[in-house]
Amino acid sequence: MTSFAPFNRRQFLSDASRFSVLYALAGSLPFSTLASSLTDDPRVSQTPIADAGFASVHTIADGLYATISDTSKGFATICNGGFLIGKDAGLLLEGFGSARGAAFQWDAFRKVTQAPAVGALDTHYHFDHTMGNAFYGANGLQLWGHAAIAKRMMESYGSMQGADRAAFLAGPEKRIKDAKNDVARQHAQGDLGAVTNVFDMANKTPLSFPNRPLDPAKLPLNVDLGHFPIVIEHYPGHSGTDLIVRVPDQKVVYTGDLVFSHAYPACFDDKCTMSGWRNTLKTFASWDKDTRFVPGHGPACGQEGIRDLRDLFDDLYLQAEKMHQAGVPVADATDQYVIPEKFKTYPVFAWGFCIAGAISKIYAEMATS
Ligand SMILES: [Zn+2]
Repeated sequence: MTSFAPFNRRQFLSDASRFSVLYALAGSLPFSTLASSLTDDPRVSQTPIADAGFASVHTIADGLYATISDTSKGFATICNGGFLIGKDAGLLLEGFGSARGAAFQWDAFRKVTQAPAVGALDTHYHFDHTMGNAFYGANGLQLWGHAAIAKRMMESYGSMQGADRAAFLAGPEKRIKDAKNDVARQHAQGDLGAVTNVFDMANKTPLSFPNRPLDPAKLPLNVDLGHFPIVIEHYPGHSGTDLIVRVPDQKVVYTGDLVFSHAYPACFDDKCTMSGWRNTLKTFASWDKDTRFVPGHGPACGQEGIRDLRDLFDDLYLQAEKMHQAGVPVADATDQYVIPEKFKTYPVFAWGFCIAGAISKIYAEMATS
């Protein structure tokens, strides 16, 4: 349990559940312009093979496709995804924020190939990556994901289903009333919006879980689609259930939310580990200089995107350490972080999920080190 508790724990059963709706709030954030920078890479197709506004699908290498979301145009997908196609079969990535989002990607897949799909993989359990899972089940596709996904989804979103809405929101509402200043109040208001949205989304969506759970102890897993070698790996950092899909020959990595490209990372999860995540990014940075990353959110990026995210982690640590040394209590430190000039254009989906989560976790690490 981390020290940061923006919501009453009883009223708000899981930190995790707060996450996905922040994207529902992100409509005014500049993801639309970010998506266009995907085309800066000469390997990326200029023209999408499918475009629904809320997301578009781009060829990023032979047989490899990236689905990039634009939340300014709708929330059907919310996160990024993609698919891989070999000679014998294909593999799809992400359940997205809704069945409609998963259906969009499935249609794009079918446009490219009639090969069977071995399955669809959730990179982790968060709402914006799994709420469309039911689409795959309904269409006879096997759903792959970390073995803990079902449990984490039930704890986070199952617990919201049928719960009393007013009682559920009382904690975050109280935080607004109790705010010590305007900045803290603003942060609390943004967080309440995020919580409200995720609550409503969980209550209108039937949950659906992987029927091919992948035990992290048995990873990496090699997948043969009849073309390039593909490997599924687990890394610590964002959610405790994070899987990546790596295609070493083509130097392409689908990272899920272990990479936020041009955005503040979401660090609220109980199983989020800031130091572990930093190490994971160090590993990503050690891979080939021409590696292309398809992040969980934001535009596809190269190693420069990993560098920027590592710089952002350094800044979170630097400011947290300074405040800690100055004796600022964690409850105040979470609101006092200042976004540096370099990251001013990076969307913060909700303060509590991203920055307050990060600062409180770094405080907790300092307390135990
Ligand atoms: Zn996530």
